[in-house]
Amino acid sequence: MPFIYSPRYYADIGIHVFPVIKYQKVYEKLTREASISETEFLIPGPATDEELLLVHTPEYLEDLKNCAWTPRTFASELPISNEIVELFVLSAGGTILACQKALQAGWAVHLCGGFHHAFADKAEGFCYINDLAVGVRVLQKDGGIQKAAVIDCDLHQGNGTAVIFQDDKSVFTFSIHQQELYPIKERSDLDIHLPIGVTDDVYMRHLEENIPRILDEFKPELVLYQAGGDPYEQDQLGSLALSIEGLKARDTFIFHGCKKRDIPIAVTLGGGYAIDTDDTVQIHVNTCRAAMEVFSLTSE
Ligand SMILES: [Zn+2]
Repeated sequence: MPFIYSPRYYADIGIHVFPVIKYQKVYEKLTREASISETEFLIPGPATDEELLLVHTPEYLEDLKNCAWTPRTFASELPISNEIVELFVLSAGGTILACQKALQAGWAVHLCGGFHHAFADKAEGFCYINDLAVGVRVLQKDGGIQKAAVIDCDLHQGNGTAVIFQDDKSVFTFSIHQQELYPIKERSDLDIHLPIGVTDDVYMRHLEENIPRILDEFKPELVLYQAGGDPYEQDQLGSLALSIEGLKARDTFIFHGCKKRDIPIAVTLGGGYAIDTDDTVQIHVNTCRAAMEVFSLTSE
């Protein structure tokens, strides 16, 4: 099973709406309930400086290394410490590994990642390193692919990713997100700006109208799928109204679209700030289950 996880996916960020503990909880729930043994998980190493430099500027990486509060780091809504920076560098390694595994196995799920608000030269939101962008660039450099698509279904726009790949014809960025919400919107190749209160069926209609077209016309050799858990109706940060079942249907739709066209897909978990963290964990576990159901031969 191409699942990527590290027991080091944790850092102390103080009292915060971002439940960092969710990564460990998703992992534990998967081992407990989905009969995936601990030894089956692939453990990533940290991304190297060389890999990070494919996306991020040397000055910004230097700030991160020094845990320095500068104009490049101050827009972060997380504290900064060695432990926190290491988590982000490790997560970038995890997304790289997910991309590599996806090319081999057709799919892979990274039980972390999706830090799409990080820009090349600055932090934003809860994001220091844009692991999605690093994954794309490493695979373009070493993985034999040219074209990739980032399909971002998080509550929030993938603004950092959009800017990093702006005017880059080799990467298609798609983002479906709540309009009236953080962050200040940038221009993706295709943005779907949703009003508050959007439910399962309207959301799915947008995907049905756009995802097959992107896959057929752009023909990516790799899809990075940001399976954010925060479009959920009980999320604390947003006002979309997707159900837990609707979010799983979303994931299943994306997976089927890629499988049908033989396009490898690497998945990141993205955001998730449900009132009850167990709901966020369930949503992420469902993403893993949907991937297993669609891709693993035994369950078909
Ligand atoms: Zn989000």
